[in-house]
Amino acid sequence: MITVTKTFLPPIAEYQAILQRAWDKQWMTNRGELVLELEDKLKNYLQVPHLTCTNNGTVPLQIALELFGREGEVITTPFSYVATTASIVWQHCTPVFVDIHPEYLTIDETKIEAAITLKTTAILATHVFGNPCAVEKIDRIAKKHNLKVVYDAAHCFGVTYKGQSLLNYGDVSTLSFHATKLFHTGEGGCWVANNKEISDSMYYSHNFGHYKPEQYFGVGINAKMSELQAAMGLAVLPYINSIIEERKQIYETYNLLINFDEINNISIRKDTKWNYSYYPIILKSEEVLKLLMSKLSEKQISTRRYFYPSLNTLNYVIYKEMKISEDISKRILCLPIYNGLTGKEIELIVSVINDLKY
Ligand SMILES: *Cc1c(COP(=O)(O)O)cnc(C)c1O
Repeated sequence: MITVTKTFLPPIAEYQAILQRAWDKQWMTNRGELVLELEDKLKNYLQVPHLTCTNNGTVPLQIALELFGREGEVITTPFSYVATTASIVWQHCTPVFVDIHPEYLTIDETKIEAAITLKTTAILATHVFGNPCAVEKIDRIAKKHNLKVVYDAAHCFGVTYKGQSLLNYGDVSTLSFHATKLFHTGEGGCWVANNKEISDSMYYSHNFGHYKPEQYFGVGINAKMSELQAAMGLAVLPYINSIIEERKQIYETYNLLINFDEINNISIRKDTKWNYSYYPIILKSEEVLKLLMSKLSEKQISTRRYFYPSLNTLNYVIYKEMKISEDISKRILCLPIYNGLTGKEIELIVSVINDLKY
């Protein structure tokens, strides 16, 4: 069985040695020393000014929208994981979809201004598969219209754009440390804010609104990361460069072996140091995609339709046609990519792809 992804697990002795510190202190959560150490190490690795760890990658989206959304319209991408749209709706904001660029698959910045109304409060875009949005142009539009920009950067661990962390663009970026992500803490995540005031407001919100034991900054929720999650992060982090390097090898092997006559892959934006987080291929039609999925599954190879369906078709949003996103989401398939995927396994996967009769 070849799965589409596999969680990287550090040697258990290394994980246990870190856990021992929590045992010794008998301290399990509420921003213990392991969470603080992980935050320091992440700030240093990612080269970002303000970072707070959270219990997953969705709640920080909700906290950012609690702050910026004000129950207004939030301009967003239809091509992402469902959490991006769901968090907008959950915060009683209205998602206003803008179609995507056909090659980068990120929100088409040239269509954003036409979607802005007096009710627009924020832009929530996804750097999908770790591919940067047109961050400078989006920044200019946001400044002009006085909007806040939140990036769902769940796929962006370690990605740099024009020589600096991609997370430094926009007002807030959120990362997911879910077990299926490149860097993980089992469940977990963080946000990065570029401004201390925003970072502080979100910080209070993520801990019930506390700023002193008996005083509250405002309404809050519980999004704290526990020591158990942080221990996993501290055990995984030393391996991150080799994790990315191994994925790069897999990515390059696929690129070399796949016959691209009838298949496309995505274009990564220029000036990006990418992290090889996914290997999506775009097929000619949904029929071909279904055929390929079944041929692969006959060989015990699993794939995932990331991202399908296009989020503007969810039954809890107002439908508006998004031609490119709806079309691409029907034809895009993510191939297995994870640490430990062998050359032989890649050859087997590619042989099924290249043998497909159209
Ligand atoms: C994984 C993911 C999330 C959700 O992260 P969790 O940590 O599972 O809550 C949000 N957005 C995108 C684009 C994701 O891929």
